[in-house]
Amino acid sequence: MAEPLDPDVYRAAVAALGMKAAAAGRRAVPVSGISVGGCAEAIGTPRRGAFRRRAQAHNHPRDPRFGWICILGTRAGRVVTPTGRPSALLAHEYAHLLAPNSGHGQRWRAAVTALGHPAEAKARRGR
Ligand SMILES: [Zn+2]
Ligand SMILES: [Zn+2]
Repeated sequence: MAEPLDPDVYRAAVAALGMKAAAAGRRAVPVSGISVGGCAEAIGTPRRGAFRRRAQAHNHPRDPRFGWICILGTRAGRVVTPTGRPSALLAHEYAHLLAPNSGHGQRWRAAVTALGHPAEAKARRGR
């Protein structure tokens, strides 16, 4: 079942990503919320919501849930490493918010690289 993750769990990690984005000359984007165990649209329902991948970011400007990051897994460790740093998965999804509507194209790859995860960009090249 989808439920919102306690913002205390990810606030510092998201702030770290926002600082990296700003250092790279980008405008930091607020994260509206992080849903675990399903999509934000399914919070409060017995459904998991629609998923094509293990995680997704609502990054269409007209999406009423713009800024939400949804993760199928339920472990907070998917989002934040044991030392409190943003996980590669969180950086991957946050890059989608920085580069809305560009899939895994060049704008997204530049964004995830600026967040310190060039391996993510490399893994998605051509996909
Ligand atoms: Zn979702
Ligand atoms: Zn992606």
